[in-house]
Amino acid sequence: PAKQRLLVVANRLPVSATRKGEDSWQLEMSVGGLVTALLGVKEFDARWIGWAGVNVADDVGQRALTKALAEKRCIPVFLDEEIVHQYYNGYCNNILWPLFHYLGLPQEDRLATTRSFQSQFDAYKKANQMFADVVNQHYEEGDVVWCHDYHLMFLPKCLKEYNSKMKVGWFLHTPFPSSEIHRNLPSRSELLRSVIAADLVGFHTYDYARHFVSACTRILGLEGTPEGVEDQGKLTRVAAFPIGIDSERFVRAIDLPPVQEHMKELKQRFAGRKVMLGVDRLDMIKGIPQKILAFEKFLEENPQWRDKVVLLQIAVPTRTDVPDYQKLTSQVHEIVGRINGRFGTLTAVPIHHLDRSLDFHALCALYAVTDVALVTSLRDGMNLVSYEFVACQASKKGVLILSEFAGAAQSLGAGAILVNPWNITEVAASIKYALDMPADEREKRHQHNFKHVTTHTSQEWAATFVSELNDTIVEAQLRT
Ligand code: UDP
Repeated sequence: PAKQRLLVVANRLPVSATRKGEDSWQLEMSVGGLVTALLGVKEFDARWIGWAGVNVADDVGQRALTKALAEKRCIPVFLDEEIVHQYYNGYCNNILWPLFHYLGLPQEDRLATTRSFQSQFDAYKKANQMFADVVNQHYEEGDVVWCHDYHLMFLPKCLKEYNSKMKVGWFLHTPFPSSEIHRNLPSRSELLRSVIAADLVGFHTYDYARHFVSACTRILGLEGTPEGVEDQGKLTRVAAFPIGIDSERFVRAIDLPPVQEHMKELKQRFAGRKVMLGVDRLDMIKGIPQKILAFEKFLEENPQWRDKVVLLQIAVPTRTDVPDYQKLTSQVHEIVGRINGRFGTLTAVPIHHLDRSLDFHALCALYAVTDVALVTSLRDGMNLVSYEFVACQASKKGVLILSEFAGAAQSLGAGAILVNPWNITEVAASIKYALDMPADEREKRHQHNFKHVTTHTSQEWAATFVSELNDTIVEAQLRT
């Protein structure tokens, strides 16, 4: 039988496009949480719809890019600079992202913020409508339309206005906060209303799903049921679908010659020292300063460990044009510099901090040689780094220290050491516990995590979401 057509709609297409001439483009598949997960979807005839990340003002350029993208099964939505500024930098990244991660609404200049709020929300709605137009142009009867993330909360409603029979699912990759947080948002009701226009609404964890249902009951006055949210007899299914990774890809990578070569170099470089690892985008939600301060406290309290352990922190630059992110970067640099000055010697420093990303092979090698991985997110939808680390640890069986505020704590909680990243004393003690952990306990904890990561994959996640969406629609038809 023909595979079911799946239209995956996300803000960014999984490619980066560089213009090489009037009508020529160079495309490169890009990485990132969602992209990595959806690359594994093989059981559907999938197409991507999204923004290519570049401003293309002319028709010739747009036509050429559309044609080049078609070969990668990608369909572009063209957004101009002003829309990108207001919708993406403004409403998505400056308002929704911090709010959903419990960082509140922007406050530096309350009045300016409040006044620009409405225009940013208008741009958000306009951008979502532009996505809906492209989906509608490419939609064929029977297609499943899967909308992704906080950028597209207005999309389900736009799509259903075009065609109430369209099968629409929406999945959030960030946390959904407590209704007490969500109710601060001036557009709180409009956003909830448009999301529940979808047939199925999915989150990483049961808690996020519960928060969403509470927001709908308290803010919209709707009825919450074990199945989801009910509005005048119409049910929107709400459920948890924890994402996974393509674990095979990581497990296989470890045996590749370039990865083995990297591992050999790393082992030589850090011979005689335990390796601790952090891999994060340099975002406030990742708790990088908290992590480094806890490491400092550990060194302070355990002089015997000072020349026997090294912390490698990969901090991938993100949103580098935003002042808050620049501030975080210099803050982290300052702490790292202070600690290296304090505990470094002529030949070694305790922290290696890198402000850049690594390629896949180097990253796998790093995961594989690590003794203790440290994930200290203050809030994190899931955190795939913790999964990837586990997948690469089949021989080393290292320890994962994991924030209880990452979605991954719900699934890797029994194998990892869970910590509250704000509690520096607790994190420092956990570092010591992890470094001293006997082999049999490490083995047991690792097996628990490894089993989870290799049996709850991204492919399975996508398949489960789409089949649940199909079922939801069949059930709704049976009810009427
Ligand atoms: N990553 C990468 N190169 C790097 C560091 C990280 O490709 O140098 C990838 C990593 O493999 C993971 C993703 O970035 O798949 C980060 O996902 P996560 O869910 O941990 O956090 P997010 O950045 O989505 O908040």
